[in-house]
Amino acid sequence: MEKCEYCQSEKVITDLQISDLGMNSSDEKMQIILQTNPYGFWNKGNKHHPVSSTICCSCGKIQLHLKDPESLWNDYQLMKQAEE
Ligand SMILES: [Zn+2]
Repeated sequence: MEKCEYCQSEKVITDLQISDLGMNSSDEKMQIILQTNPYGFWNKGNKHHPVSSTICCSCGKIQLHLKDPESLWNDYQLMKQAEE
């Protein structure tokens, strides 16, 4: 059982994706967007990395984490190479 590291409550919901209302009131999931090919003319190599959250329903603390941090790091290396 996961506990809140702040208040030790067990009323914790894990792996929830946070949504926001984007343009045209579309339901946008929170994510990191990174361009692996920033100088591309048509295709900038946008990579979307979903952000997930752990929420404590006792104290309200929300922790954010990436679903796949290794993949973001790899895309970041590609972006760095493209900038050189
Ligand atoms: Zn808590």
